[in-house]
Amino acid sequence: MGKTLFWVVAFLGGLLVTRVLAQLAAKKMYNDSLPKQASAKQRVETEVMVQCAHCGVHLPESEAITKAGARFCSQAHASLGARPQR
Ligand SMILES: [Zn+2]
Repeated sequence: MGKTLFWVVAFLGGLLVTRVLAQLAAKKMYNDSLPKQASAKQRVETEVMVQCAHCGVHLPESEAITKAGARFCSQAHASLGARPQR
């Protein structure tokens, strides 16, 4: 009986230690990866997407060409001008 109880306690203790170590490892990995993920995510989220007034393609605002209050995907479409959307 005492031997069985010992093995039960040893098994549960082993599970507990394994679980605590796994949690610590997971927390460490999460903390290590968190700043990189957050900054990458933030960069994507803060980029505003605009639509080309000529062909309708979506592109980041920083890459768009603004002409006469309209946004275009390229210099060629800017010179062609805005086209009414279907
Ligand atoms: Zn275009």
